Amino acid sequence: MRYYFERDEPRTESDRYAVCKQLSYHLGRQLDAAAIWEEVQAVHPAIDPVQQAFLETCVTRCSATGWKPAIQTDVQVVSEKQGIVGMVDRITLDGAFSVIRAAGAMPFGTYVADRLRIAGYALCLEEMTGEVVTGGNVEYIPDGVTRFHTVQPRDRRQLLSTLHTVRSIRDGAVPHHPLNAPCNRCRHKERCESGGHRLSELL
Ligand code: SF4
Repeated sequence: MRYYFERDEPRTESDRYAVCKQLSYHLGRQLDAAAIWEEVQAVHPAIDPVQQAFLETCVTRCSATGWKPAIQTDVQVVSEKQGIVGMVDRITLDGAFSVIRAAGAMPFGTYVADRLRIAGYALCLEEMTGEVVTGGNVEYIPDGVTRFHTVQPRDRRQLLSTLHTVRSIRDGAVPHHPLNAPCNRCRHKERCESGGHRLSELL
């Protein structure tokens, strides 16, 4: 439903993401908060100055973790079979790939959306390299935490199902309101409840 409502909205990068993304280029090396802040301002001249404190917190937390430096950053990946394209944030010397997140980590594991991202990138890389990709890292910069997610068959099934739904929405279909969505925190709640399908229609 969120994709349906937001499919025509322009994508904008949040200030927090701008900070985390810029910091990520320095992972595996000494982190200098002042130098990274200068880069953040160069990339986003209008960034809110309060984000400097956020950057310093990220630097402190990331400095306590052992990171592998990247040998490539912002690598475009593509699956022609599935018609998807994406950008891997970091690839390290051991061939592992990483996705940067500006969110905190869960106590254990990875969020569903992150598992889908990893599955999508793995699928693209497999098509590009002809080799099996077992998983990838999700790097939660605000907490200084990196988690390797091993792609499971259920992730691949869910990814293919999601791509099928996205294509049907692009072809004009209206999605069904899911039963277990996190609606309480969603900005589309009112619109969704008035325009979405009611429980009685589903049962
Ligand atoms: S209100 Fe619920 S179902 Fe609708 S878009 Fe938001 S989270 Fe999804």
